[in-house]
Amino acid sequence: MTIARTFRLMPRMAIAATIALTGVFGQSAQAQQRGVSVVRDAEIEALVRDYSAPILDAAGLGRSGIEIVLVGNNSFNAFVAGRRIFINTGALVTAQTPNEIIGVIAHEAGHIAGGHQQRLREQMSRAQTIAVIASVLGAGAAVAGSLTGSSGLGQSGMGIFAGGSEMARRSMLTYQRGEETTADRAAITYLERTGQSARGMLATFERFADDMALSGSRVDPYQLSHPMPRERIANLEELVRTSSFADRKDPSALQQRHDLMRAKIAAYTQGHQAAMRLFRDDPRGVPALYADAIGTFLAGNSRDALKKIDALVRAQPGNAYFHEMRGEILMRANQPAEAAKAPAKAMSLDKSRSGIIQVAYGNALLQTGKPDQIRKAAVEIQAGLTRAKEYAAGYRYLAQAHAQLGDIAHADLATAEGHFYSGNYKDAKIFAARAQQKMAPGTPGALRAQDIIAYRQPGRG
Ligand SMILES: [Zn+2]
Repeated sequence: MTIARTFRLMPRMAIAATIALTGVFGQSAQAQQRGVSVVRDAEIEALVRDYSAPILDAAGLGRSGIEIVLVGNNSFNAFVAGRRIFINTGALVTAQTPNEIIGVIAHEAGHIAGGHQQRLREQMSRAQTIAVIASVLGAGAAVAGSLTGSSGLGQSGMGIFAGGSEMARRSMLTYQRGEETTADRAAITYLERTGQSARGMLATFERFADDMALSGSRVDPYQLSHPMPRERIANLEELVRTSSFADRKDPSALQQRHDLMRAKIAAYTQGHQAAMRLFRDDPRGVPALYADAIGTFLAGNSRDALKKIDALVRAQPGNAYFHEMRGEILMRANQPAEAAKAPAKAMSLDKSRSGIIQVAYGNALLQTGKPDQIRKAAVEIQAGLTRAKEYAAGYRYLAQAHAQLGDIAHADLATAEGHFYSGNYKDAKIFAARAQQKMAPGTPGALRAQDIIAYRQPGRG
């Protein structure tokens, strides 16, 4: 299952309707059936990290180990839990400029630096990523899809949750009005310190204020958790007007990376044509061509997709993610030997040293089926997973590699890890117990299996 499929199961209108019917805190059958997934993608993660790093430094949070987590959801949302800032893919694809997302990150950083929801955040800092999302959004999805999907925009985890903690959800999503003002002012300060405009943040908030005023039919979760009364917008407008960087634009290279990200998310979540339409003003531009290549790939036409990505590789040979995508297309075209060269090239170009690309490289080696490549595959996948620790799909490949090498104990442990990071704790414990029986007591594998067996979800008996 690819993420595109999941998204089709939860169209925007359905989400809006659910919220309208039950309120954002309400539980509904639809909400529980709705998939919530962590999106893992090297390109998007690197970009959002580049957006957030200067802001977090300016907020004095540069060394606090704040992580950004991408949530596969078409609505506009961003929220803080524990040491994590969660951002919906829907927000990333909606934002026309990097500055709009940077502004939202600055506002959320303002909540963290201000110590808002401190007690709740401490509780949440120990919780699993997928469990946090589930408890905040009160939604889960079938485990069946959790370990599949080898695409670049692959899901890391989807789990079934009976509902999470109502209290946690309620307080996580609601700030005091005074806290909103504090976060706004802090955000402006961080943007000033980093020489960036606050217009993007203002544009985002204004959009929500207007939407709220005009109709109740399209309500995003962010709007509900961040009330935008007119007076708040007016205060912000005044602050932006007096800023020395109000008219500063994002660097054009950053804008292009932003557009490439939008092209990718749109191709996966909205379809080929919708992704192309995003760039109708510049149909021969690189983002439009990227949307076209990915859309063609997702439609199952690997041959044409390969031609299209090759053209992009020729245009920007230094773009790691074009090589990564080329590898995915070749994998789909059943050319794993050729495919392995592409992520290897991507790894050499990727400044963020993403473990996700290394896992893709290992998987390509694995799929060659050659005995000498399988051992190498296990090493590469394992190394990738040490840097992309919660990348559930990666553990499925690791399990395959161990199984093919005849190491069933570590195959079971890898399967347990995959279920664990998908939030499927029941199956995680079953496989961890199987692995443990086959391992010598006290070995690292046996200890990890024991951790999984002993894991208790925070807030659950
Ligand atoms: Zn806020």
